[in-house]
Amino acid sequence: MDWIRLTKSGKDLTGLKGRLIEVTEDELAKHNKKEDCWICIRGFVYNVTPYMEYHPGGEDELMKAAGADGTDLFDQVHRWVNYESMLKECLVGRMAVKPVAAPKVLVEISSTLSEEKKHLNGMLPEKKALGASAKDLTPSYDWFQTDSLITIVIYTKQKDMNADLVIVDCQDKRLRGEIILGDHSYLVEVDLYHAVQEDMAVNIAEKVGKVEIILKKKDNIHWKMLGQPLESHNTLSKRMDRGLFYRKCELVSKTEVTHDTRLFCLMLPKSTHLHVPTGQHVYLKQIIAGTEVVKPYTPVLPFLPLDFKEPPCHDGACIYLMIKIYSCGLFTQALDHLQIGDYISVSNPEGNFKKSQVRTSEDLFLLAAGTGFTPMVKLLNFALTEVSCLRTVKLIFFNKTEDDILWRNQLEQLALRDERFEVQFILSQPTKDWVGKQGKISSSLLSEFVKRSRKDSKVLICICGPTPFTEQGVQYLKDLGYSQEEIHTFTA
Ligand code: FAD
Ligand code: NAP
Repeated sequence: MDWIRLTKSGKDLTGLKGRLIEVTEDELAKHNKKEDCWICIRGFVYNVTPYMEYHPGGEDELMKAAGADGTDLFDQVHRWVNYESMLKECLVGRMAVKPVAAPKVLVEISSTLSEEKKHLNGMLPEKKALGASAKDLTPSYDWFQTDSLITIVIYTKQKDMNADLVIVDCQDKRLRGEIILGDHSYLVEVDLYHAVQEDMAVNIAEKVGKVEIILKKKDNIHWKMLGQPLESHNTLSKRMDRGLFYRKCELVSKTEVTHDTRLFCLMLPKSTHLHVPTGQHVYLKQIIAGTEVVKPYTPVLPFLPLDFKEPPCHDGACIYLMIKIYSCGLFTQALDHLQIGDYISVSNPEGNFKKSQVRTSEDLFLLAAGTGFTPMVKLLNFALTEVSCLRTVKLIFFNKTEDDILWRNQLEQLALRDERFEVQFILSQPTKDWVGKQGKISSSLLSEFVKRSRKDSKVLICICGPTPFTEQGVQYLKDLGYSQEEIHTFTA
């Protein structure tokens, strides 16, 4: 908030009095000190010296890219942060295009120059040419119409298609259909020729990998074409290279979970098909004091799999988020002020958890601290309802006080109903009345609670909480002899 205030103060944060300049690599390299630090992100150069003290990751993290191109570093740590908005007052200018030595062959000139220009200006993500075999695997699409319907068919060429891998949005005549194929995705993206109705259907033939998007025409007229293709239409690209896509969702309910944590139910538009896979998170975006702020949150279920009823939200697909409101939190305070009926932008899902990690396990241990419990909710549901080879599922849940324990009652009920499931609450700041375990994550606590059900049993340990909690947990587990493959950490 203090940073946003400073950017609004009218102070000259670049020292260039509002001018934008072309920056050469040599010039950029000169600004490599804390008191004079420029960083290039995607071809744009920012003076980050005034931002140093506000950077959540600390000065040292920023200094790693001082006087250089920080795009890769930025993408690794927080690709989702809207730096253009955060740093707009610090913009110095663009990187200058490097002059190219006179080439021998004319054909080479254009390719070198344009590639170099694209690279330097960061205008286009790096795309590797697809080899013949990759081309064979690239999905394709077709479309046809009846009097009232438009059907777009995507042939994914994947046998194991499922609803988690298909994300479709249709807003204001713009259709975007994304098919997730590992770390790549295929996109159909067009400005439709005519208007369509709000609701649509998505059919997935899982075994043959065929996806049908069925749109209802607003007017029963013949379409000459599907529409105008957009830049990424009909491309297969790395998911990392595609920007986050958001749609506006309506807040339909907000219920108390504990004194500071609420369950937010957000309804997706009728014209969106989106399932957030187990272990993945989404980003929420709000404009706070004129600046776009983005934070990640992990969808949960409306309740634990005790007696599974229809989710209370019938009117469309909903996303449930369990969010702790921090008294001085920038994003969560704004979130808490949303009224029922207000809208908030929700991104496509991200995350590197794979269900197959659980499918082959016999013992599953979930180490959660505070809201680090959120990824464990869908994981518990999946493990207890779909993985038959699991013998034990144990949640070790770290909180400060009894009042902070999320869904304690539901967890205790679940443990009574399913003999494979056990929950252990550990409090770091208990009252005198607490008779349960107390302490912080430690080697001795982990050796007491994380044990293979039999020698050599296949184990998966998932861990989520404040970063130092997760890092310490991983170290203790490794010291106890667990391998990297047996540990999954949830991070952004
Ligand atoms: P900020 O303005 O960033 O911080 C203000 C103050 O709040 C801090 O000084 C500190 O006292 C406190 N605070 C803020 N963030 C943290 C923190 N991360 N740990 C401890 N104290 C903090 N949160 C949820 O409630 N539910 C989720 O499902 C969830 N999922 C997440 C998924 C991922 C992949 C990640 C990386 C984080 C997730 N978080 C989740 C945390 C969330 O993204 C925000 O960090 C959190 O909501 C605080 O944002 P804020 O802007 O309100 O606080
Ligand atoms: P909290 O209430 O502050 O703490 C929960 C428990 O963790 C407490 O027992 C606390 O002990 C302990 N703890 C806190 N910091 C620790 C540390 N440095 N080392 C060891 N133990 C520590 O937790 P919270 O406010 O709910 O925060 C939850 C965290 O989980 C957030 O940082 C959030 O970003 C993260 N999260 C990540 C994901 C994800 O990556 N996918 C998803 C959801 C949440 P003390 O009494 O000692 O503080």
